[in-house]
Amino acid sequence: MAVVRTQVLEAVQAADNVVALDLAVPEGVRWKTGEFVRVALPGAPEDAWRCYSIATPAGSPVLRLFIARVKGGKVSPRLCALKNGDALMMDTEMMGMLLEERLEPGGRDLWLFATGTGAASFVAVANDETIRARYDNIILVHGVRTWQETQYVGRSLTPGPTLQVMACVTRDKGAWISGRIPDALADGRIEKTAGLTLDPARSRAMICGNPAMVKAVRETLKARGMTSPRGGKPGQVLVENFWL
Ligand SMILES: Cc1cc2nc3c(=O)[nH]c(=O)nc-3n(C[C@H](O)[C@H](O)[C@H](O)COP(=O)(O)OP(=O)(O)OC[C@H]3O[C@@H](n4cnc5c(N)ncnc54)[C@H](O)[C@@H]3O)c2cc1C
Repeated sequence: MAVVRTQVLEAVQAADNVVALDLAVPEGVRWKTGEFVRVALPGAPEDAWRCYSIATPAGSPVLRLFIARVKGGKVSPRLCALKNGDALMMDTEMMGMLLEERLEPGGRDLWLFATGTGAASFVAVANDETIRARYDNIILVHGVRTWQETQYVGRSLTPGPTLQVMACVTRDKGAWISGRIPDALADGRIEKTAGLTLDPARSRAMICGNPAMVKAVRETLKARGMTSPRGGKPGQVLVENFWL
């Protein structure tokens, strides 16, 4: 682990409980699209370092994070209070499971299932021109409680004819898809809305966010014959949990 100091270029209140932090990219720092970074406040002990998915694709001039303010959380409320110009420490060793190159080649539709700030990696994936060019369709399914939580994702995405974004909204009324992602997937509303079917021949999927959603979606995809890469065997599904 090598630690470098970076600076908050811009801190924006992106939703009631989410702050978007644009960080300067220190010299020599590189990441792959879909990876996460470990950050900490200056002087913080080892147990106060936290992982955050990078919402900007590889090679971007800024490193963007979406940070949810976890009630009673030790670190996230302090990160959400950072202001423009504040310093932040960063581990230069980036990691992550959500690398498109890990998926079995030949997919036509790339499905991205996220809850809350779990959409961060997928904003990077969907905005990566190389990945976008590889697929006929990219479908970002975002599980949120309220409409305003969809906005920071919408604002960060580059629109295009192959990109579909759909929200599954649990609290606000009037959504096209009301309720949780696993339910809307199980009863067919998500595929119907996308006009596409999930199958191992043409579909590839990434799942990120709260563990209950990740587990349920993973099981539904497994029942369709879509599995994760294992022991050198290619797979169609990549998964990252935010906590256990
Ligand atoms: C690979 C990876 C990538 C991550 N990327 C992001 C990201 O892009 N954005 C982000 O906001 N968080 C992300 N997290 C979660 C983040 O690392 C912290 O766990 C989170 O900010 C809470 O830290 P804390 O010190 O405030 O809470 P702690 O005092 O450490 O309490 C942790 C508890 O908070 C809950 N929790 C953790 N994350 C969330 C969340 N997002 N929403 C609701 N409850 C939560 C869980 O119950 C967890 O057990 C990621 C985690 C991992 C492992």
